[in-house]
Amino acid sequence: MTSHAQNKKYIVVLDAGHGDHDPGNVGNGYREKNIVLKVVLEIGKQLKKNKDIKVVYTRKTDVFIDLWKRGDIANKAKADLFVSVHCNSHSSNAYGTESFVLGLGANNKNFKVAQEFVQKENSVIKFEKNYKERYKNFNNSAESKIGLSLVQEENLDKSLALASSFQKGFKNKLKRKSRGVKQQRFVVLHQTYMPSVLVELGFLTNKSEGRYLNSKRGQKQMAAVITSSINNYINQLKLNTVSVNGDEILADIDTPVIEDDVEESSVVFKVQIASSKKRIATKSYNFRGLRNVERVKVGRYYKYYYGNTSNYSEAKSSFRKTKKKGYKSAFIAAFKDGKKVSISEALK
Ligand SMILES: [Zn+2]
Repeated sequence: MTSHAQNKKYIVVLDAGHGDHDPGNVGNGYREKNIVLKVVLEIGKQLKKNKDIKVVYTRKTDVFIDLWKRGDIANKAKADLFVSVHCNSHSSNAYGTESFVLGLGANNKNFKVAQEFVQKENSVIKFEKNYKERYKNFNNSAESKIGLSLVQEENLDKSLALASSFQKGFKNKLKRKSRGVKQQRFVVLHQTYMPSVLVELGFLTNKSEGRYLNSKRGQKQMAAVITSSINNYINQLKLNTVSVNGDEILADIDTPVIEDDVEESSVVFKVQIASSKKRIATKSYNFRGLRNVERVKVGRYYKYYYGNTSNYSEAKSSFRKTKKKGYKSAFIAAFKDGKKVSISEALK
């Protein structure tokens, strides 16, 4: 019996930001559009060595592509992953790498600071024809008011896992400064239906970082880290073990505050042990002896939970049990009135 899953190629869409008449930022005279294209082509070259992966580029040359079209390319390719590569700029001497996943926007604590960066990457819209018409729904789309849809949440978990792997790689392997993983409303992330990360390689406006990113060595090193993170991510996808180590990442993220005027609410904690496109029978022999595993379908994915309880210390002991069983990426998820919420909100 041959399994379809075994033959499946995972499609990774690589998006080099900007292009042609949109140079991106030109800090210290460097050109973002050229640097990110070189890095993306290098990532693609390396990724193609992995037989499980098919690479699709939004651009391979110095051409301009509308933001919506970048997402459209990924959606039409039915991509498993979308990675957009950029370089940052600032009037200060700021430096360091950061990775962004889709966020809700206006609820962020650091909204003002972050907004400055968002506007910069989003501002390329003005190079597009009919942009007012095209993106008129962006600023008042439903999820900016009511939160992310379940599919977006599932994608967010996966995006966070990859984004944090990028940041760890830059920091640990290359000793670059990590500015962390952040949640923002980038248009290009908003257009895609799959896990998506926008990575800022560093600041061209910073003299030494700009020089590093413009050098062949810098581009190869940054590409190597991104490639290795993507390879790990795809391997984890195959093994159904992609998930976020909540404690570590959420510290870096501005968790959106969702206003809630419910007086009494029921809070439930569960340990998420796996997430997969595969529907697996919730028998204990499929889950290393864990009993009463719950399966919940979220969009195209199934999430597998263990230990349904309203008691947080009980949840922590279930969590330790799953770790002992080898579910290294298990984490505690909280639900309030059936909706996923952050642990801190659940504990309020
Ligand atoms: Zn950019």
